[in-house]
Order: sequence, then structure tokens, then C-alpha cells
Amino acid sequence: MKKKIIVVGAGVAGLASAIRLQHAGYQVSLYEKESTPGGKMNRIEMNGYKFDLGPTIVMMPEIYREIFELCGRNPDDYIPMQKVDPMYRAYYNDRPDDPFDISSDLTEMTKTIESINESDVEGFFHYLQDIYKRFIIAKHDILQRPFRKQRDFYNLPMLRKALKLKTFDTADHFVGKYIKDERLKQLISFQTLYIGISPMNSPSFYTMIPMIQFLYGVWFIKGGMYTMATSMEKLFRELGGEIHYSKNVKEICIENDRATGIVVDDQKISSDFVVCNADFPYAMKNLIHHPVAKGKYTDKKIDSMKYSCSCFLLYLGMDKKYEEIEHVHNFVFSENLNENLHDIFAGNKLTNASFYVYIASKLDPSLAPEGKDGLYILMPVSNIATAEYEWNKETIDYYRSYILDSLKKIRGFENIKEEIVSETCFTPLDFESKFNAYNGATFGLQPILSQSNHLRPQSKAKNCSNLYFTGSSTHPGAGVPIVLLSAKIAAQELMHDDQGILYDYSRK
Ligand SMILES: Cc1cc2nc3c(=O)[nH]c(=O)nc-3n(C[C@H](O)[C@H](O)[C@H](O)COP(=O)(O)OP(=O)(O)OC[C@H]3O[C@@H](n4cnc5c(N)ncnc54)[C@H](O)[C@@H]3O)c2cc1C
Repeated sequence: MKKKIIVVGAGVAGLASAIRLQHAGYQVSLYEKESTPGGKMNRIEMNGYKFDLGPTIVMMPEIYREIFELCGRNPDDYIPMQKVDPMYRAYYNDRPDDPFDISSDLTEMTKTIESINESDVEGFFHYLQDIYKRFIIAKHDILQRPFRKQRDFYNLPMLRKALKLKTFDTADHFVGKYIKDERLKQLISFQTLYIGISPMNSPSFYTMIPMIQFLYGVWFIKGGMYTMATSMEKLFRELGGEIHYSKNVKEICIENDRATGIVVDDQKISSDFVVCNADFPYAMKNLIHHPVAKGKYTDKKIDSMKYSCSCFLLYLGMDKKYEEIEHVHNFVFSENLNENLHDIFAGNKLTNASFYVYIASKLDPSLAPEGKDGLYILMPVSNIATAEYEWNKETIDYYRSYILDSLKKIRGFENIKEEIVSETCFTPLDFESKFNAYNGATFGLQPILSQSNHLRPQSKAKNCSNLYFTGSSTHPGAGVPIVLLSAKIAAQELMHDDQGILYDYSRK
């Protein structure tokens, strides 16, 4: 008889680990508290407009494709993709008529940098060269492997590699060594916000995020990101997996230091293994009741850990198409990005805010009624624990006005307020209540050095057998491709323990 695995949560990492384990011959049942797949990779539908709820930018498409290829499928049948170039347009609040386009075509990018500050071209290529070397180390030796024992990190070859990652420099300082123009520097370093950390605090190796964009490009999946969630759900069902929606798991049962199932709808459902995709700090506090199984992750420890920033989102259905806005991805930077970053992480209400505008209906018109566009607007904000203000109607109105007033200055968006026909929003409170994101921190535990790599919660539970974690608060961290890797690690860890399969993580 097949061994039974329960996966708690149908986020990206839950779906991907469920697929891997079902494919490997287990009988996998997924329990998700919401009624749809994807977790934060979800969809908002409103009067014919369809919006991605959370993630929008596809990087490292080969990692998305891998899960389908593993199961003998052609990814193009599930997640057809196209490259987006220019990748995005950067607008500046204080000079809205003078945006510049960011491209993964290095000839075009060279011209752009020359137009901003010719002397930064050389530095830009030195930055790419330096960070690429570190990316290769991270890719092979850190991101795809677990650190289940101390000696998996504390050994000479690994320490040598870790040293080459030059972890102690901050992203802001590192980029500043190569690039002098402030706007150009910020354009590269601000991208650590994609994983919820300020470039002022982020280990410099996370500036590999913009490098990955420059060297490998940015992609769009037909139907938007949500296609990835529904396609993984489809694949999982095709393989024979079961999904139970609207099932809020209340407990992961631990008996004799071993996970034995879950409690849902006041009933125990038994399994041989449990994989938990619910946010790690939330799960440790709320789903694991057994004090020994919590290990060092006591409630006090969970509250003392550092959390990523959160996001405020507006989803606007518009009564026209925005032909003058040429790009799908657009960033609007405040005139004082440093103050903006400081305020996000200090918990202050933002008076100098930057935000991002995504118009998916430009690439896939089926995402809006005919002849119309939908605007998705994301503003990074403080998480609930940090914010010195309440998320109430007044705050929502304040940020909504801030965004619309800033956009009005951009050619093409002058009449934006009058062109809205339908709208809704999502706040840090919604991320907490809908997806159990602890503190509403949309990217999970903040990837500061003391919460990265071997120091981040690992997949295999330390104080209890047959229990594994996956998702953005666990190693290797946040972002769709990265949590897909966390799912791969979780599945491998489980199969290592169950079947003794040895994965060779050492690169010669
Ligand atoms: C606004 C926003 C924009 C982003 N943009 C990008 C981007 O452009 N590109 C990119 O690569 N990444 C992006 N990200 C990051 C990316 O979306 C996340 O890192 C990733 O989706 C996290 O997946 P996950 O599986 O770890 O967690 P989740 O999506 O949080 O999944 C956890 C699941 O567990 C369920 N759950 C929780 N508790 C229970 C319970 N008790 N019982 C049952 N089910 C439970 C939740 O409902 C949820 O479905 C963005 C994130 C946000 C929020």
C-alpha cells in the first residue's frame, strides 16, 4: 500500500511538493483553508477584470518548467510563456516626463546607462561580473540544498564558498561601489524589496535578483501568474492527488515525537508524513501544540524574529485601454527612496512612497473586458508588527489618494481618477487573515544574515520526525522560483528519510 502524505496549504510550495511526492509514488492529500489554489499566487476577479493577487514577475522560468518536465509533461501545454522586453519602465515622481526603460538586451541597456551617466557603464558590467560569480556559488551550493545538520554548513569547503559570497556587505553599499548615479544605483539595489528587505540591511548577494533579470530576462505566463497555480493544481490531480479546499487545519498531530496527521473539522486525519506549507512562524505558533516539537521556536522566539515588509494593493478596473503607457511592468519611484525605505521598516506612515503598476491585460487582453485595461498597483508598506498606524478606511483612503495623485502626473494617466469603474484592495491585514502570513509579512521571515541559509528554518523539523516545512519563511526563502526550490528540498528530505535516497549536494 502507498504511504500517505498530508500537505497543509496549497500555496506554490505546497502544490509543488505535493506534485513531486505524488509523482514519486506516495498518496498525497492537500488541505487548503481557502477555496482556490495558489495561496498568495491567487486571482482577484471583479466585473470581468481578472487580476493576479500577488506575484506578477516571472524570473528563472526554467524552475517553473521543471515541475512539469519532472512529470513527463510539456510545460508549454500548461504555462505558455513569452519574454517581456523592455522588462519595465522606471518613472520618477519628481520628473514624470523623463522615464527610462530597463532591458535585458544588454545593447539597449548600455545605451540607457550611457544616457543617464556614461561613466557608470563600466561599473555596471563589473557589478554583473562580480555578482554572477556569487550567483553561481549560491545556485549550486546554497539554494538547492538543505542544511539539516550543523556540519552541512560548518565544514571547510562550504565555509570557503560562503566566504566567496561576501555576505557581510549590504546591497546598497555593494552596488554603490560600482555605480555612482543615485537613480541607477537605486534601480538595482531596491530590488531586494522583492524579498521584503531593505537594500540598506540586505546581504549584498541578494543583488543577484536584478542580475538574474538582466542576464536571463523577465517572462509572462499567458493568463498571468495565476495560470501557474491552476496548472500545478491540474497536474497534481492528473497524477492522482486529492485536494480538499475550505479546510482550515487546526493542528499537526505529534505523537511520540512523530507527526501522525492533522486535525481538521474537529477530526483527526492520519498520515505517515506531514508537509507544512502554512507560513512557518504561524505554523509553529498555532499548528504545533507539542512544546518538545517546537524546539527552539517557542512563541517568544517566533515573536522576536525579524519579518519582511508587507504590501498594500489596489486593483482597478478601468474604462479604457492605456495605449500611451507602453509597458506591462512600471515602477514609480519617490523622490526620496532612502526615506521611503527607512519609513517602511521603521513603521511610519509613508509620505514619500514608491510603487509598482502592472497591466497584464496589455499582454493578455482576455484579462479585462474588451477595450479595457485592469491596473494592479503594489506599494511596499510596513508589516503589521512594525506599523505605527492602523489599517483602517482612513489609511486605505490616504494611500489610494497618494497613488492616484502621483499617477496623474504621468502622461497617459492624467484622468485616472475618473476612469476607474471598479475597484478593490488588499492590505497587510488581508494577507494575515486569508493566508495566515504571520504579521502580514508578505515575504515571510526577513532574509537578514541571521535568518538566511543554514540559519533560516530548514525543511526537516528538528525535534520531531515525519514532519517537513516548505515555503517562503524556510530555506532558501521567498519568491516563486525560490519557494519552488524549497518544495524540491522538502520532497527530497522526506524521501531521504523514508527511502534512504541520498542526494549528492556536493559540487566538485
Ligand atoms: C504582493 C506580492 C507580490 C509578489 N511578487 C512576486 C513576483 O513578482 N515574483 C515572485 O517570484 N514572487 C513574488 N512574490 C512572492 C511570492 O508570491 C511568494 O514568495 C510565494 O507565492 C509564497 O508561496 P508559499 O507557498 O511560500 O506561501 P503561500 O502562498 O502563503 O501559501 C501558504 C498556503 O497555506 C495556506 N494555509 C495557511 N494556513 C493554513 C491552515 N491552517 N490550513 C490550511 N491551509 C493553510 C494558505 O491559505 C496558503 O494557500 C510576491 C508576493 C506578494 C504578496
